[in-house]
Amino acid sequence: MDAKRKKELKEILMDMKALKLTEIKQNAEEKENADSYQHDAQDFADTATNAYDKDIHLELTEKNKKMLIDIEDALNKIEEGRFGKCERCARDISIERLKVLPFSKLCIKCQSGTEKK
Ligand SMILES: [Zn+2]
Repeated sequence: MDAKRKKELKEILMDMKALKLTEIKQNAEEKENADSYQHDAQDFADTATNAYDKDIHLELTEKNKKMLIDIEDALNKIEEGRFGKCERCARDISIERLKVLPFSKLCIKCQSGTEKK
């Protein structure tokens, strides 16, 4: 992979990282608001809705955190020069795929194999 492409992908990853960090922060704030609201809620229906909202927030935060780890991982790989290789078959992951999903760990072949199972 040439330096220009590497830089390009690094920028995409940095943008994604910033976005995920913002989302995690927003989610945490919304969850806090929901928590304080729930404290006052007397009505059962309100409480149930809040619990449901909290679950969604928690799920989103977990997803974002996992993605953040993948993004960090990809950034490290770029630094170490082992970025863009499939973790299963060690083939190069196509640049088209990396541009859409720069933190892909598997090539399209291995990925579709995993999803089928
Ligand atoms: Zn592969």
